[in-house]
Parts: sequence; structure tokens; C-alpha cells
Amino acid sequence: MKLAIVCGTRPEVIKVAPVYLKAKEMGIDVKLIATAQHRQMMDVMLNVFSIKPDYDLDVMRENQTLNLISSRIFSRIDEIFEREKFEWLFVQGDTTTAMTSAIAAFNRGIKVGHIEAGLRSNNLKDPFPEEMNRRVIDQVSDLMFAPTKKAYENLKKEGYEDERIKITGNTVVDALYYVKNRFELEKIRKSLVDVKEYVLVTLHRRENWGEKMKKILRGIKRFSVEKDIPIVFPVHLNPKVRKVVNQELGDFKNAKLLDPVGYVEFLSLLSGAKIVASDSGGIQEEAPSFGKFVVVCRNTTERPELIESGYGVLAGTEEESVYKSLIEGLDRKLAVDNPFGDGKASEKILSAVI
Ligand code: UDP
Repeated sequence: MKLAIVCGTRPEVIKVAPVYLKAKEMGIDVKLIATAQHRQMMDVMLNVFSIKPDYDLDVMRENQTLNLISSRIFSRIDEIFEREKFEWLFVQGDTTTAMTSAIAAFNRGIKVGHIEAGLRSNNLKDPFPEEMNRRVIDQVSDLMFAPTKKAYENLKKEGYEDERIKITGNTVVDALYYVKNRFELEKIRKSLVDVKEYVLVTLHRRENWGEKMKKILRGIKRFSVEKDIPIVFPVHLNPKVRKVVNQELGDFKNAKLLDPVGYVEFLSLLSGAKIVASDSGGIQEEAPSFGKFVVVCRNTTERPELIESGYGVLAGTEEESVYKSLIEGLDRKLAVDNPFGDGKASEKILSAVI
């Protein structure tokens, strides 16, 4: 069996790395194709897992549009498909990289496996373009690896046959264990921040760019001032994010603004945080493994398991609701298993195709 795995952005690398490493360990003929949709953030993550891609499509350009990235991926990945005779292509999540690669494989008669299938907001345009990407990928997938029972049920509701769906857990928990078992997170955290308590913040979503992000940041700042809890914020590289963050928090003494940190460093920060405010998907899935409460700065979440397990709240994007959610979440004591996985997802995924 000849397998290709594709990735292009930070979260994709984190979530495919354990599958790639496990495939190697199992003696599967596997090749990693990196599109470099987000060059810097992808490269940093590959280093964490000591992985070098077999192919680097180098598609990123300044001010790239979704259609431009798509067209580059289509043509470049097709050349690889022409050369290598893959039986399977695994894509992860809901990026443009995942969607275009899945269609390209489908057109070539290569079987598609979708890691993290079945997440739905049920609004085609929100999040944009992720919800569309997810749906398109599932349509062309021979196997859908649903991380949770809820994701499985979403797919069943859309009429997909049982044989095409496997419940596996989310590979992000495998990645997290990989790091936890190899690094001293507490020591690393101390080298990064010198305060005992802090609210860890990340924001990057397209849907929050502009006014919404301003309001979210004002809510977080109000919380920080009132409770005298500093903000620690690795700021995404996107200029649209950086501009607003600098406007709102640039002069605020109690905010430690960092460049994006490596995965090991990020998990160190997460493990020591008092509370988390974020619009990230991956962080919602990681926080429960450290017993941390997440204030989700969005109006929807495709990860309802977070809210149901008590590990998070959907705060919306208004200053008042974000502030209140942080106050209410501050002293939550949590101790249930991570609803997103047990660290064995990669094994379950691979055993479905060998
Ligand atoms: N992350 C990281 N460094 C950072 C911020 C986040 O390594 O400075 C990791 C985090 O642990 C999570 C992933 O990046 O696994 C989330 O990526 P992002 O929020 O960009 O995307 P999403 O998960 O929303 O698709």
C-alpha cells in the first residue's frame, strides 16, 4: 500500500505528524507532501516532529487569494500524482490545501481518507471557507475518520454510508502526548513567562478580523485589568491580526505579546495557563488534556463536545460577553477525560487502510 499525506498549515502539520510517524513505524510506504500554504508556520511545526517533507510545493505568495493557492496546488500536486502511483491520499481538516488535494486525488482515482471528518457548523459560509472545504472533502472521501461520535452522527445525517466512516478520536491528542512524553513543559513555560497566573490568548480566524477582534480584545483587557491577571498572547503572523492586536494591546503593560511560538512552547504555555481565550479549533481540543477552561471567542463551534464536557463556553464576540465568560470560567475545577481523543487515533486510522 502506497500512501501520501498532505499538509500546508500549522494545525495540519500538528495533526498529520503522528499519523505520518506511525505509518513509518508500521513499515508503510508513506510520502509527506507539504504545500506550504503558510510557509513559516508550517516549517516550524515540521521541525518539532523532526519531519522533512518528501515534496514541498511551495505555493505561498504574498497577498495570496484562495483561488490562487488552489490553482497552484492543483497543478503541482497533479505532477506528483503523475509520477508516484499512490493508492491513498490522506488530507486533514478543512483548509484549502486539504480540499484541493482531495479533489485532485479524486480526479486521479486515488482513494481519499479524511482525517477529522464530520465537523459541521451547519452554515456553509461560516466559517468561511472551512465549512465548504469540509463538506467537499467528505463528498470525495472513501474513508472519513470522525474524531468523535458527534462528528460521526453529522455524517450519518448527511446520508453517508456506515462503511465509509470510522470513529478514531482526534490525532491532535496523539501529537500532544508525543510532546508531553519528550519535553519538560513546566521548565519550558518558566523560561517563557515569569508570572504565575495568566490568561492565554490566541485569535486568528478570518471571521473575526476587524471589528469583532477589537471587541474581543477589549473584553479580555477588561478582565485582565479587573482581576490583575496578565495576558500572554502569541500573535498570529497575519498582518490583519497583528494590526488590531497592536492597536488594542500594544500599550497595555499587563499584556505579553509574543510572536507565534513553537508547538512545544505553546503546549507549555497552555499547561500553565489559568484560563484560555481563543478562536482556535485545535486549542479547544488540546485544553481538556491539561484541565483548562476555554472561552471560545466565536458565535459557533464545531466542537460542541468542549461545551458539553464543561471545558468551555461559547462567548460570542462582544466585549461584555467575552469579559463575563472569562470571569465565570475563572475558578472552574475540571477533571474529566478529554472528549476529543485518547492518543490512539493514528493507529486506528492506519489500521483501517492496511
Ligand atoms: N499553536 C502553536 N503556537 C502558537 C499558537 C498555536 O503551536 O503560537 C498550535 C496549537 O497548539 C494548536 C494549533 O497551533 O494545536 C492551532 O492552530 P490554529 O489556531 O492556527 O488553527 P485552528 O486549530 O483554528 O485550525
